[in-house]
Amino acid sequence: MKKELLSVVVSCYNEEEALPLFYKEINKISKEMNYLDFEFIFVNDGSKDKTIEVIKKLHKKDKRVRYVSFSRNFGKEAAMYAGLEASFGDYVTLMDADLQDPPSLLEEMYNLIKDEGYDCVGTRRVTRKGEPPIRSFFARMFYKIINKLSSIEMVDGARDYRLMTRQMVDSIISLKEYNRYSKGLFSFVGFKTKWLEYENIERVAGETKWSFWKLFIYAIDGICAFSTKPLVISALIGLMFCIISFIMILFIIVKTVLYGDPVNGWPSLVCIIFMVSGIQLFCMGIMGEYLAKTYLETKNRPIYIVKESSEKSEKGN
Ligand code: UDP
Ligand code: MG
Repeated sequence: MKKELLSVVVSCYNEEEALPLFYKEINKISKEMNYLDFEFIFVNDGSKDKTIEVIKKLHKKDKRVRYVSFSRNFGKEAAMYAGLEASFGDYVTLMDADLQDPPSLLEEMYNLIKDEGYDCVGTRRVTRKGEPPIRSFFARMFYKIINKLSSIEMVDGARDYRLMTRQMVDSIISLKEYNRYSKGLFSFVGFKTKWLEYENIERVAGETKWSFWKLFIYAIDGICAFSTKPLVISALIGLMFCIISFIMILFIIVKTVLYGDPVNGWPSLVCIIFMVSGIQLFCMGIMGEYLAKTYLETKNRPIYIVKESSEKSEKGN
């Protein structure tokens, strides 16, 4: 009987040091799980170091290794999407190249799908060991806020590391939006998901590609992509200020009629102007954010552009 195929999709950005270690580890797991066929899809997300050379070397050595290489850095979301599109497996797993997603969990994940009828097994880290406390604090806040704002459930600490059935992968691929926020997309498509928990592991080599600022922008993208409630909130703030100003007008009229109108109140007026115009700009900013997203979506730009891939370069020679 033909074995089922498991695709391992790995997005790589400047991972020349981590990749050989990763390959060694995943190769070991593929031997242990010899009841499955494996393919490894490395997506080179416009790395500036020798990542692509390392991948090509692996491809020469091991025919199960395939790759897609982008023309520039398109971001991890685009890389994961490209990997999913390139995969043929009956099961597909998304992994980081830095071994922060332990390949040793794969067997357990596979068994859960096979025996217990789950469509997807995701992983979440329960500790944030080795992370700056301030970052953990903002991460927790973000999950609280987004879960209040969005009807799609986002699991705190969920990683992108997961094993999915072909059916689920196909439904993810069918979501072709340009502003991709995977954590939301995975919840959006639904399917029965089991969560495995594990302690945070630090990366084996190289360094994290996420600065605080990048994560902040990513968080705003996530909120915009899965909730339009900020628009409602800004409308409500506007309404609240209308009511307050109406009460103030009444108060001032009554006061003027009763006590006359001595000229004062200039500082308070300036404060009010500052505050109200600040809130106006803030609400316009929220609107602008949605408008910008719509603008980018309507351009229909490709999510990524491929420079070379294992299939293309094979045709070439
Ligand atoms: N990555 C990518 N494109 C990027 C940034 C990161 O493909 O623009 C990959 C990176 O090579 C790694 C994974 O995404 O395999 C996770 O990145 P990292 O380990 O820096 O993130 P962290 O684990 O610190 O959240
Ligand atoms: Mg990492």
